[in-house]
Amino acid sequence: MTYDQQLADRLFPNVTLLPQDVIAQYPRRELAVAAKVTRFAPSPTGFLTIGGLYATFISERLAHQSGGVFYLRIEDTDRKREVKGSIDGIISALDYFGIRRDEGITHSDGESGRYGPYKQSARASIYHVFLKRLVTEGLAYPCFCDAEDLNAIREAQGKRNEPTGYYGDWAVYRHAAPEKVQEQLDAGKPYVIRLKSPGSADRKIRITDLIKGELSMPENVQDIVLMKSDGIPTYHFAHAVDDYLMGTTHVIRGDEWLSSLPVHVQLFEVLGLPAPAYGHLAPIMKMDGASKRKFSKRKDPDAAVLYYQQQGFPDDAISEYFMTLANSNYEEWRSAHPDEPYQHFLLETSRMSASGPLFDMHKLTDISKDVISRMTADGVYAQCLDWAKEYDDELYRHLSDDPDYAKRVFNIGRGGAKPRKDLSRWSDVRPVSGYFFDGLFESGGARAETILPPNAGLPRAKRIVELIWKPGIAKTTGTAGSRR
Ligand code: GLU
Repeated sequence: MTYDQQLADRLFPNVTLLPQDVIAQYPRRELAVAAKVTRFAPSPTGFLTIGGLYATFISERLAHQSGGVFYLRIEDTDRKREVKGSIDGIISALDYFGIRRDEGITHSDGESGRYGPYKQSARASIYHVFLKRLVTEGLAYPCFCDAEDLNAIREAQGKRNEPTGYYGDWAVYRHAAPEKVQEQLDAGKPYVIRLKSPGSADRKIRITDLIKGELSMPENVQDIVLMKSDGIPTYHFAHAVDDYLMGTTHVIRGDEWLSSLPVHVQLFEVLGLPAPAYGHLAPIMKMDGASKRKFSKRKDPDAAVLYYQQQGFPDDAISEYFMTLANSNYEEWRSAHPDEPYQHFLLETSRMSASGPLFDMHKLTDISKDVISRMTADGVYAQCLDWAKEYDDELYRHLSDDPDYAKRVFNIGRGGAKPRKDLSRWSDVRPVSGYFFDGLFESGGARAETILPPNAGLPRAKRIVELIWKPGIAKTTGTAGSRR
């Protein structure tokens, strides 16, 4: 038995499976050759941003437009950063915006699909199988450095003007004598498992990014941590194992992950597994006065998708807008196919801009007005009711008290060549149509009183609708409420 084999047995005494045993439990998916398998893999560390939703939307489209699979995996390896409630928040946002998942986490404690578990915290035993293999093959090793040791290395590197980190000759435990390692283990010293990076500072990786095109980046030389001292792997390692086992073919994510790409590519190489294709999206931008800037998670309320949910933008408006941001030829297609669902347009990653698109609230508002104007009164009623149930109790009560009446209100000016375009989101219903509902009557009071017929025998607001709504004129036309 080699030293590495002995070490692996000592570090992982309970692991009896080999990677091929685990791989056999995750059979290749039976899909057409061109079908893409994509995922959204958030860490539950906060709220879903509009940029995150955009990347997720594209991932979902690429999967479903190709007859593939889209799934939700939760990357919760960093338990310290976890924010309570964020998984449910993410799921409710995906549901609201109609991002359909085929597999994965369904709520904080549930999941569906046969490629799970879909939460990384439930997969430690799987990762250990692959880690044991790497140690057995001399491709990974335990490192007993504590924070103080790592600081001392960093300081020494600083003094000599060398790049910081744990690599090459600086990686003390990469070169440690077996006796020293045994000694530390005997003493019960905490350790992490590090990659023995095969990278070289004078070599580059070449990779074709689906969005950014040909890239050349320095190879990774850092002996990165694969498993932390609590036995939980790092996200980098876990995602490589998961994307392979779950059959991910394409990863679309924000370009803040681009700098990790050499590490990720190397991990797949070391594991002997094929890597998925990667596409890195530049962050979407917003106008700030006369200049463009990135959204700030801390300062901009409209950075959070919850903002769009609370405002009540219909999911189709956001989807429609995302389509225009993703492929510049979409708008032309839309003018030629006004009544087709957006899903009939095939998104191409090669047409996505390498620089961040501008997210323009005015344009979203206009698109949303169009989308709502094409809905039937029934569709408007159903979506508005759903929204009000969550965000406006009083409106919800009024809408559900008398659905027929509410639909007649929504039918005013609907259909025909020039349908009404006064609603851009469901929170507009109150200021625009509130005066049709007694008790929701806000600023529209004067107007309602002046057009009210005397003694009409109906509650005030209802009499107005009787006046305006003439069956046969305001006929229900247009596409169904939801284009999905
Ligand atoms: N868990 C990572 C995140 O929080 C996902 C990175 C990836 O998609 O590979 O964004």
